[in-house]
Amino acid sequence: MLTTKIIEKKMLIIIGSGCAGLTAAIYAARAALYPLVIDGNQPGGQLTTTTDIENFPGFPDGIGGYELVDRMRKQAERFGAAFVSDHIRAMRNEGEVFYLDGTRTTYESKAVIIATGASPRLLGASGEAEYFGGKGVSTCATCDGAFYRGKDVAVIGGGDSAVEEAIFLTRFCQKVYLIHRRDSLRASASMTRRIVENPKVQIIWNSVLEEVLGNGLRVTGLRICNVKTNIEQILSCSGVFIAVGHKPNSSFAIGVIPIDSHGYFIPRADDASCSPMDGVFLAGDCSNSLYQQAIIAAGTGARAAIAAERWLVGAAEKCVPIREYLQN
Ligand code: NAP
Repeated sequence: MLTTKIIEKKMLIIIGSGCAGLTAAIYAARAALYPLVIDGNQPGGQLTTTTDIENFPGFPDGIGGYELVDRMRKQAERFGAAFVSDHIRAMRNEGEVFYLDGTRTTYESKAVIIATGASPRLLGASGEAEYFGGKGVSTCATCDGAFYRGKDVAVIGGGDSAVEEAIFLTRFCQKVYLIHRRDSLRASASMTRRIVENPKVQIIWNSVLEEVLGNGLRVTGLRICNVKTNIEQILSCSGVFIAVGHKPNSSFAIGVIPIDSHGYFIPRADDASCSPMDGVFLAGDCSNSLYQQAIIAAGTGARAAIAAERWLVGAAEKCVPIREYLQN
């Protein structure tokens, strides 16, 4: 078991093992910074719950999300990055040292890259919490879609995630309702074309979820309302997938690193890879609400690692491999 004795001050710690954290780990490891990646509640991040990624350069035939992050992790390990399974619940600093309280132990470091990503948002509709997790309400079609073979399901949202979830669900489900609060989709043109042409999908426009209905054990339907006509409708279905965007995973650092009103980390004005706190660097969706794409997360991960390397050199800090500490 790792202890604070092992995790010494001069380690570069990367919080998060999604696309941003793994790219930061590749760059940091190649720069001999011996990064330790704390891989969080969802190792591999959001990409592990997506299906085919068609817009990541270098993969003309697309690549599965899980496979992409698995390759990144192997690449980081090849250059010497170390990984630990833990989840950071709180962060504090004393002088120049940052203390990261995980569920297993407390980590100390002078340099930290925060790449904690974002998690799916829920709507707070009546019945949503009651039936969440195995009872019919889900935020992940890749994880739960196969449970709905031959059934009717609904997806809430009009962005790329909602469209992707809906298209994926048509592999298993008899019918997929896409319920969107407006009369046009936010999703990209190519995704929009694919969903409009899919005969298994029925888009219900200008409508919002009012209530998830169930029999106490499982979802049996939805009460939705047309926001233009105010007419309510009961939709019979066995599952509902909520895909209405994401919230940044930043709560562990509240009070230490500035965050905006939506919870995104605020970068330094002159360099988006740096937080205003010396020694803390930012990468990926936790500090970027505008361009939440895998390739951008990867790019910002590389940028944060380069910034960390420059800072460590400037601060005359020398990182030491984790195995040297294990020997001490
Ligand atoms: P998003 O683009 O922010 O879309 C969220 C959707 O949920 C919007 O259609 C929004 O409606 C709707 N929504 C938000 N709050 C709602 C509420 N309270 N009630 C009902 N509907 C609500 O989020 P996302 O789809 O998760 O995508 C996030 C980022 O990841 C985007 O940049 C996206 O392009 C990217 N992404 C890319 C891919 C891909 O390229 N394959 C796949 C997935 C995600 P409005 O449209 O009315 O605001």
